[in-house]
Amino acid sequence: MSKTIFQKIIDKEIPSEVVYEDELVIAIKDVNPVAPVHLLIIPKKCIPTLNDLTKEDTNTVGRMIEIAKDLAKEFNIHKTGYRTVFNCNDDGGQTVYHIHLHLIGGRKMNWPPG
Ligand code: 5GP
Repeated sequence: MSKTIFQKIIDKEIPSEVVYEDELVIAIKDVNPVAPVHLLIIPKKCIPTLNDLTKEDTNTVGRMIEIAKDLAKEFNIHKTGYRTVFNCNDDGGQTVYHIHLHLIGGRKMNWPPG
C-alpha cells in the first residue's frame, strides 16, 4: 500500500509545520487553513478511517483529544471556542485516508456544517 501524505509527513519525507509530537501522535498546521487556527492531530499509526478503529486504538484516540484540548489553550482559542472534527469517507468530506482530528478556531463557526 502506498503511503498517505500524512505518513510521509510523519516519516519526515515531506515538510510540515509541526506544533506537537510524541511517540503516538503528531500535530501540524493545516496547509490550507479554513480559520485563523487550523491544526491536524494525527496518530502515527495509519488508521484509514474511523470505521477501522479497534479497541487497541482507544488510548491513541483519547490522547488525540487531550492534545487538541492542550493545543486549543496554547493557541489561545480555548475561551472563545473551537471545533474538533473527524471527517469519515466521502460524504463526511474525508480526503486523506489516515485519520486526523481537525482543531479549528479563531472565528465563529456555523451550524449545521455545509
Ligand atoms: P480531510 O478532508 O481528509 O478531513 O482533511 C485533510 C486535511 O489535510 C485538509 O484540511 C488539507 O488541507 C490538509 N492537507 C492535505 N495535504 C496536506 C499537506 O501536505 N500538509 C498539510 N499540513 N496539510 C495537508
